Amino acid sequence: MAKKQVKKSWAEPFKIKVVEPIKMTTKSEREKAAKEAGYNTFLLKSEDVYIDLLTDSGTNAMSDYQWAGMMIGDEAYAGSKNFYYLWDNVKKYYGMPYFVPTHQGRAAEHMVSKIMIKPGDYIPGNMYFTTTRVHQELAGATFVDVIVDQAHDPANTYAWKGNIDLKKMAKLVKEVGAKKIPYVSMAGPVNMAGGQPFSMKNLKDVYEFCKKHKIKLWFDATRACENAYFIKEKEKGYKTKSVEQILKEMCSYFDGLWVSAKKDLLVNIGGIIATKNKKVYEEARNMVVVYEGLHTYGGLAGRDMEAMARGMEEMVEYDNIHLRVGQVEYCGHQLEKYGVPIVKPIGGHAIFLDAKKFLSHLPQDQFPAQTLAAEIYIDSGVRAMERGIASAGRDPETGDHRYPKLELVRLTFPRRVYTQAHIDVMVESIASVYARRKKIKGLKMVYEPKYLRFFQCKFERL
Ligand SMILES: *Cc1c(COP(=O)(O)O)cnc(C)c1O
Repeated sequence: MAKKQVKKSWAEPFKIKVVEPIKMTTKSEREKAAKEAGYNTFLLKSEDVYIDLLTDSGTNAMSDYQWAGMMIGDEAYAGSKNFYYLWDNVKKYYGMPYFVPTHQGRAAEHMVSKIMIKPGDYIPGNMYFTTTRVHQELAGATFVDVIVDQAHDPANTYAWKGNIDLKKMAKLVKEVGAKKIPYVSMAGPVNMAGGQPFSMKNLKDVYEFCKKHKIKLWFDATRACENAYFIKEKEKGYKTKSVEQILKEMCSYFDGLWVSAKKDLLVNIGGIIATKNKKVYEEARNMVVVYEGLHTYGGLAGRDMEAMARGMEEMVEYDNIHLRVGQVEYCGHQLEKYGVPIVKPIGGHAIFLDAKKFLSHLPQDQFPAQTLAAEIYIDSGVRAMERGIASAGRDPETGDHRYPKLELVRLTFPRRVYTQAHIDVMVESIASVYARRKKIKGLKMVYEPKYLRFFQCKFERL
């Protein structure tokens, strides 16, 4: 008898100890909730959401080890023992000697931008991130996108769409001079490009370029473990290295980094500035007192810092990061079976629906991605997020919308929160919206705030 090949599945590397019930809603209830929220998924009440894929920011499920750590929070105003434990782990995992805690990532971005940038400077980066760019601009810099062209093409399957294009860097240096470029702002995987990683080879090349031109290199290390995982899986020479080793090597090429702990670190709040540069550290340590609190707590409780320190130990575990990226991959493969257009290769933290293709009958100024996110919510209570023209905001010079090449809906996976059954339900809902896509009408913006408008803007159906 011929032997039948048995499929080898893998599953979540944990069992569930505490559950949080979720409310089930009807379609007409969701229709009403969507209208009240101005068709902006940021303005929905989380109570009215069934599966919440708005963001993976601060939505992580902590482990019993982290919760146990919360009980030994040392809530001293100064010199909490949790701070020193966290500092030890910053040195251990990121390899940076100096460290300042902040209450979240954008507080770190604010201070790094203020310290490093003079008005009139230029900051090159591998595509922008909303809060990163806004702080660089508020500090007086002009942001310049130097990501490889492939990143702007959702159909391109290049493995390293987070890479920096050194030709674009050289052009910028020629145009404005290296003195006007205090640092290169590098992130990985690149959220706005679809969670796409950079390669170690590219990082080394960028490092050499920066060294030659005396430009500093700073790392938005918020999702660095996902990038390290991709390097392990896809880049030659890294298969046998651990995620921890790869992370450490990545960080070794940077002068400093900031982190939103609400991602990789498996906690609900927190941020980090870490650097090799003593002078920058001393400025940050002084500035944090003005904006966040004393440099040994930076806007956090002692228990938060303990959970961060323990989360760091878990973030580099292979099973954890494999589950993380593996869930996203599973979802992407299921959607592809229904022909739903997604950004490829499948990224590290999220699936990005290509709304330009999905709703190809809508012009970009009718907010196709915003429309699609609203439709998916109304269909099944799954909450996604727009990453397109609304997120891109307006050009500060002309006041017109920025028209980004990518018009995406992001389905972001909270870490350790949902099971494969949730993913199946979500995939089926999106497939059914796709089946009736031609009947879907666009939106018009009826309220628009000045900064980071996508958080609070409101729409009406056309
Ligand atoms: C979330 C995030 C930030 C901002 O961090 P917050 O903690 O939300 O303030 C910055 N950069 C990247 C890449 C992020 O994902």
